[in-house]
Amino acid sequence: MSAKPLGEGDVLGILGDGQLGRMLALAAARLGLTCHVYGPDQHGPAKQVSWIQTTADFRDEAKLAAFAADCQAVTLEFENVPVETLRFLEARVPVLPGSAALEVSQDRLREKALARALGAGTAAFAAVDSRADLDAALTRLGCPAVLKTTRLGYDGKGQARIMTPADADAAFAAMKGQPAILEAFVPFTREVSVVAARGRDGAFVPYDVTENEHRDHILHRSVAPARIGAKAAARAVAIARAIADELGYVGVLGVEFFVIGEGADEDVLVNEIAPRVHNSGHWTLDGALTSQFEQHVRAVAGWPLGSPRRLSPRVEMLNLIGGEADASRGLLADPEAKLHLYGKAEARPGRKMGHVTRLLGG
Ligand code: AMP
Repeated sequence: MSAKPLGEGDVLGILGDGQLGRMLALAAARLGLTCHVYGPDQHGPAKQVSWIQTTADFRDEAKLAAFAADCQAVTLEFENVPVETLRFLEARVPVLPGSAALEVSQDRLREKALARALGAGTAAFAAVDSRADLDAALTRLGCPAVLKTTRLGYDGKGQARIMTPADADAAFAAMKGQPAILEAFVPFTREVSVVAARGRDGAFVPYDVTENEHRDHILHRSVAPARIGAKAAARAVAIARAIADELGYVGVLGVEFFVIGEGADEDVLVNEIAPRVHNSGHWTLDGALTSQFEQHVRAVAGWPLGSPRRLSPRVEMLNLIGGEADASRGLLADPEAKLHLYGKAEARPGRKMGHVTRLLGG
């Protein structure tokens, strides 16, 4: 469905009621838009800051139809919204990004196939649908390797390391019968991401390549700009752009990369494509002229994109995971620390509760 640019007071629908939706809704409000948040959690972080809300399952067609009728455009903050939900909405209201992007990003095999079709490298991989497939894949790819569910994984959920063939049984059992993909373990020097926006007119605006440190598979710290050579950085940005163009993408997307090799041999391998604003882009809230959330709203609304200019030689973002948020008030003792809390009542282990950004020197 084609769309005209949104105007002041128009309603932007957001699928998903988590922290990304919260930060999108805050940015949209500042730009004069009203948000309608649709998701399953009555007390979700995004619901706390938006005026119109629907608490319902993503497959409730009556609620989805009413949501579509209320919105001038719909976007999403959660990539595991069922593709059928997006198709149902797409018949009624412009949905940006659309179902094509989700179909790819929800399936690790399709994601890797797309990256390779565009000339990008990925980890060596093989589809694993049976225990025999896993043995064959291990023979081909060797150890160490990582077995992942093909669909619906995030933050390391549905993943198992295989250090030696003796780990294969337990790893296979951890997939709980779901289709899986075996990836050769990439001996990366660091992990980086490209967070970028593509407008309705095809304009492409990337932020600086960002360096990411994970703990227990969950993002712990991001720093922009990444310590990466200009050639590999440019290649990462070009790959992100090719992916966005190929998908006809509108909005902000995050592409995660492994950096391999050094000096003239430095290169990037695509790890994951996230069709939404990205945790590694949170530094832009305080460290860039236009935050990724404002940029996403501008793209989806059909407005010109803003400047991604970084405001300091380096910008750091630290996630507050689980109980780490208990100490968050203490972080305010540093007058240069910018605290963002998501309004989640329960600090379960591994749960993203908030983050802190800091502008750093060179
Ligand atoms: P993912 O959910 O695929 O992004 O994986 C989460 C994290 O696990 C990544 O950011 C890496 O730190 C690690 N990881 C995943 N796959 C691999 C791989 N094939 N080789 C090395 N590390 C990996």
